[in-house]
Amino acid sequence: MSAFSEQIFEIEDKPLKCCDKCGKPGLGPIAVGKKLSIYGKWIKSKFHIPCYTPLSLSPLKISSESPQEAIEFAEKWNKQFQILNLSTIAPIKKLEAPEPKTYFKRAWIEIFKFLTPEEAAIISCVSKEFYYYSWNSEVWNKWIPDKTQNNPADGKLAYLEKKHNTCISCGLSIKSDLVRCPILKRALCKTCKSAYNSKYHMKKIDWIMRRYRVDRNFFERNNIPVVFDSFLNAKAYTFMVEQCLDKIEKNNPTLAHIMVTRKKRRRGEG
Ligand SMILES: [Zn+2]
Ligand SMILES: [Zn+2]
Repeated sequence: MSAFSEQIFEIEDKPLKCCDKCGKPGLGPIAVGKKLSIYGKWIKSKFHIPCYTPLSLSPLKISSESPQEAIEFAEKWNKQFQILNLSTIAPIKKLEAPEPKTYFKRAWIEIFKFLTPEEAAIISCVSKEFYYYSWNSEVWNKWIPDKTQNNPADGKLAYLEKKHNTCISCGLSIKSDLVRCPILKRALCKTCKSAYNSKYHMKKIDWIMRRYRVDRNFFERNNIPVVFDSFLNAKAYTFMVEQCLDKIEKNNPTLAHIMVTRKKRRRGEG
């Protein structure tokens, strides 16, 4: 089961006159996609398979009879939606992160030893420093003897399971495959992704622009990712928009009067 609706990966087995990306001809098979014309309409476009970038940020669906090149392309693209395969991870892996410059390093390591792997996974999201401690081998070793029978990998697996393969919103452990949100880089269950009132339900940007009184450039200016769904609607996460507006308000007290209107609208008063 996938939390993301899949998009058909359309392949044609015929020569290509002119690739829409590189402009060169090709022998085929070719990928068929869409692009926005200068008149603002979606029109068919054709690409060499390696030149193709799917428009919609959703997994590609492809039949097993498709050409090998297309299957490989789809598998590579779909990787970003897959949760970690924990069985392929080495038991103890060192984190390549700079050590935190703090006098309390020893104290923090001792504190982390009191946590369960699940607690460490949650608290590791607080800061880079906490993330670092959660990967400390001393902490790991503390988890091994009492949490498991004989398998030194179990403590770490419990940690990784909590951190990567658990729904970011409801905490449900996820067993199915294509549920990782490439923007958030975290797993998201189907309910939390699609329920309309969920924090992680993406809204159409036209709706966001009206509701928060922001313009189309707001998203790019503030690095808020905008993606297309499988119906080619541009969408974004509203919580990212809200975080951004809060930050702007904090840094520019002179904008307070605009922000008041925005806040009212957010609460549904305006
Ligand atoms: Zn090309
Ligand atoms: Zn969930």
